[in-house]
Amino acid sequence: MTDRYAVIGNPISHSKSPLIHTAFAQQTAQDIAYTALEGPLDGFAGAVYAFRDAGGRGMNVTAPFKLQAFDLATDRLERAELAGATNALKFEGDRILADNFDGVGLVNDLQRNLGVALAGKRVLLLGAGGAVRGALLPFLAEQPAELVIANRTAEKATALAAAFSRRGRITGCGLGDLAGERFDVVLNATSASLKAELPAVPASVFTGAVLAYELVYGKGLTPFLRLAQNAGVPLLADGVGMLVEQAAEAFVWWRGVRPDTGPVIARMTVPLV
Ligand code: NDP
Repeated sequence: MTDRYAVIGNPISHSKSPLIHTAFAQQTAQDIAYTALEGPLDGFAGAVYAFRDAGGRGMNVTAPFKLQAFDLATDRLERAELAGATNALKFEGDRILADNFDGVGLVNDLQRNLGVALAGKRVLLLGAGGAVRGALLPFLAEQPAELVIANRTAEKATALAAAFSRRGRITGCGLGDLAGERFDVVLNATSASLKAELPAVPASVFTGAVLAYELVYGKGLTPFLRLAQNAGVPLLADGVGMLVEQAAEAFVWWRGVRPDTGPVIARMTVPLV
């Protein structure tokens, strides 16, 4: 019998998850149907229960429901617990299991696809929202020399760094505190690029950097990536690989089979021009 999965968000028509999971299912000969559901803004829980009660096996969760999904879960895996948000649910009888694959998807894209190991590196993460929260535990597990979170609202970054300080070498600061600092890997995990804006970072952060990574995907050369390119960073990437890799982790969790992400990333990549 065909097993049903869905991504839930609002809006949802832009979501690439049905395309990605359908490609994974074809590749691995899994009998699943994966659809997109627009969750009502005032009725997220009801929509999840209705999907589960109609035989649904699992869901991806996207904006604005990642926190509500966390609250709804009966069992949270450690990554979701520490991130305070979930992007994947699995239904097992009455239990609703929650995990967060955004961070591990990002780390897999950096290390496996782009060949940039985080161990021993000075890493700068711009932003202090949900994507950064999800990334911190998987990043610190790779043992970077130092992980700096810098955010427009500095207090959010310092609070996050304090919350994760037991897990590794991590510092939080404001964007204005980055003057004179340089990093090996710089990631833009702000939503500035959605509005073609540039986070107020000094170009000097890119001095000697091996990679600049934009979490937003499909927007070509964003102002952040352009700044990095002009500063001479040899490797630029956007978040399409992260998107596909987090989907692959959810697919393994649900189906017990690992898909090949390479062809799916290649199909979805928009050139950085
Ligand atoms: P949140 O809304 O939780 O956080 C947004 C962050 O961006 C905040 O830190 C905010 O700072 C900062 N910000 C917004 N505008 C600006 C600006 N003009 N200048 C500087 N900082 C700014 O978003 P998420 O953390 O969930 O997501 C961040 C981005 O990552 C999104 O654009 C999303 O598309 C992308 N993403 C990509 C994924 C992928 O698979 N490729 C997965 C998840 C997210 P402040 O706190 O001061 O408001």
